[in-house]
Amino acid sequence: MKTIASELAYFLRGRARKNLKVLFLYCSFLIVMTLIYAVLFRALMWNLEGREFSFIAGVYWTITVMTTLGFGDITFHSDLGYIFATLVTISGVVFLLIILPFGMISLFLAPWIEDRLRYRPTYELPEGTAGHVVIFGIDATTRAFIRKLQARGFPFVVVTPDHDEAMKLEEDEGLRVVCGSPTDVKVVAAVRSASARYIIANLSDSENVNICLTVRSYCQTPIATLVEDSEHASLLHLSGANQVIPLHKLLGRYLAVRSTTCGALAHVLDSFGDLKIAEIPVHGTPFSGQTLEEAKIRQQTGLAVIGIWERGTLTMPTRETVLEDTALMVLAGTREQLRTLEHLAGEKEEDLIFILGHGRIGCAAAHFLEHKPVPFILVDRQENSSCSEHVPIYGDATIRNTLMSAGFNRAKGVIVTTNNDNTNVFLTLASRHMQPHIRIVARANSEENVDQLYAAGADFVVSNASVGAGILLNVLEAKASAFLTEGINVFRRSLPETLAGQTIADSRIRLRTGCSIVALASAGESDPKVSPPPETRLEAGSNLILIGTPEQEEAFDAVFVND
Ligand code: AMP
Ligand code: ZN
Repeated sequence: MKTIASELAYFLRGRARKNLKVLFLYCSFLIVMTLIYAVLFRALMWNLEGREFSFIAGVYWTITVMTTLGFGDITFHSDLGYIFATLVTISGVVFLLIILPFGMISLFLAPWIEDRLRYRPTYELPEGTAGHVVIFGIDATTRAFIRKLQARGFPFVVVTPDHDEAMKLEEDEGLRVVCGSPTDVKVVAAVRSASARYIIANLSDSENVNICLTVRSYCQTPIATLVEDSEHASLLHLSGANQVIPLHKLLGRYLAVRSTTCGALAHVLDSFGDLKIAEIPVHGTPFSGQTLEEAKIRQQTGLAVIGIWERGTLTMPTRETVLEDTALMVLAGTREQLRTLEHLAGEKEEDLIFILGHGRIGCAAAHFLEHKPVPFILVDRQENSSCSEHVPIYGDATIRNTLMSAGFNRAKGVIVTTNNDNTNVFLTLASRHMQPHIRIVARANSEENVDQLYAAGADFVVSNASVGAGILLNVLEAKASAFLTEGINVFRRSLPETLAGQTIADSRIRLRTGCSIVALASAGESDPKVSPPPETRLEAGSNLILIGTPEQEEAFDAVFVND
């Protein structure tokens, strides 16, 4: 059934869809021609031969003559009538019996057969395939994940039951694809699941449960799955998933963490032993407007400022860098040192966050703020049937009055999280316009819109696909979540052999790759040395913790690791 449906769906896509419109126009032309002939038939019969026929009889006569059936039950008996009947027969032969079938074959049948003959999907990976990632379900998240796999040279295969999708993925996007049902154990075996590195299930929750059960009936390869409703997580675990990722919940948290401007609470993003990497807004600290040298953060707290994150750009600070009020500092140090800094940040000020969109992600953000606690107001144009705890303000957030009457002028931060990126860009722009100093955190449903959201005035943009892909990659590489925010990576590498014995300044790591060394852990030492000065010598066997954009991380691997 599914195959027939997917074959029929072929005619609703691409070139076939355009041809369908041509066919529709042509059929309309045939119908109009038939109706005109039927009218002429009645008029000629009455005027030439004095016989009266109904309009229906006229249509019936025209069709039998045009299709050359010619039953002969109604015929003309005059010369003009014979000429008219001949004309109708000839146009029937030309338009109905020649052009129509010819068109059907050349516009539909031939391209369809050609497609089927030209592309033969793969149904099985070669025996001995191993160490690959098997991906069930392709969407923006798995696409972003695949780009990361490709950059790292990890082999992978995408499984899809749809012949056309397989063709598109393989021929247009150059991916390795196997065509087959994800819940068929034969397909699970054919993609060599037993020797795979990881299996990613990214369909609906119920389909993912089914995939997990099918895979578990065959092999023990670890499975990671994204879950739509976090209440289904335990079912997925029960059916055999090793990692269940509640993406919407995590996205809500990411957004919420960055929206609060109060109390300058540090948010720990990553840990390497005792070394914590954390973000803290400059706003709320006494350092706002000072240069890094004036702020004396290191002297006062022991923390190293390893990055400054502002409006989508990460910069490596120098002593002269000014700490803008809207920026976030990325810090490295111990938990105690972070506490000292929070202490310095002083009194909490009143905060109020607007959450625009009370869907799965907005609701998760609200839950996070609730626990901090930070006051918030939710706005949505419709009810969220899966949430009974929050009482949002109902209305279209794009209408200025909806926000203003809810007290938007008191807001210190806004989380823009509707499911439509155009709306999100609009709301970002409108929020910046209404409240120039508000902190805006926006969600990008599609990665292409990240730049537009920054251009519209967002302070932070979180893209669903990149967050999902980042988490999947961390699962694959068995890291504790090393995902910072859109555009920053903190990562660990062992010291490339070529650099052993050089000083940090000699290694020119920053110049060659853009990455900076956050910390250096000598072989056998558990405590990494944070922000080592440029004259530090790099000893063989030590570990580097680096910070950089994803591109800079790739550049590091290209220059030092893959050489
Ligand atoms: P989700 O993708 O589950 O986070 O849901 C997104 C939410 O955004 C849905 O609850 C939508 O009703 C909501 N939404 C979309 N457009 C608007 C809008 N213009 N104003 C308010 N809420 C919106
Ligand atoms: Zn809710």
